[in-house]
Amino acid sequence: MSRQPRWRRVDFLPKITSFKPAGVPLAQLQEIRISIEEAEAIRLKDFEGLEQEESAQKMNVSRSTFARILLSARQKMADALLNGKAIRIEGGNYELTKRNFRCGNGHEWEVPFEVMINKPPELCPTCNTSNIMTLWPWKPGLEVTSQGRQFRRGRNY
Ligand SMILES: [Zn+2]
Repeated sequence: MSRQPRWRRVDFLPKITSFKPAGVPLAQLQEIRISIEEAEAIRLKDFEGLEQEESAQKMNVSRSTFARILLSARQKMADALLNGKAIRIEGGNYELTKRNFRCGNGHEWEVPFEVMINKPPELCPTCNTSNIMTLWPWKPGLEVTSQGRQFRRGRNY
C-alpha cells in the first residue's frame, strides 16, 4: 500500500511560470523544471529573508526537508542562469494555504485551507449572496476535486 505523500504548504503561486534566455530559439534550449514548493522555498528564504526554521514551519516540513528543497531550487536556478537554460515553474507536492473569493457585489475574502477542506464557502460572508467565485489560485490546471471536496492541489509530475 502506497503512503500518502506529505504535502508541502505553499502560500504563493507565481503568475509567470516560464522563462527563457533572450535570443535563443526555444527548440535549442534545455528546460529546467522548478516545482511550486521549490519556488516557495526560494521565496521564503531568499526573497522574504526568513530564517530556515521559520520557513520550514510555514511549509509544514522539517528543517532538513526544507534545506533539501531549497538546495535543489538554488542548484536548478544556478544551472539555468549559468548555462542559459529555460525555466518552467510547475508541479510538485503541495497544498495551498488559502483561497481568495469574490462575490457578485464585489466583496472579497480569504478562506484558509483548513476551512476549505471542511466546508468550502457557499455564501458571501458580507452580503450572503451565493454568486461567488474564486480569485486565487487562478491556474486552471490545478483544479482537483477529491471526495466531494473542492480545493486545489498540485500534482506529481
Ligand atoms: Zn458580498
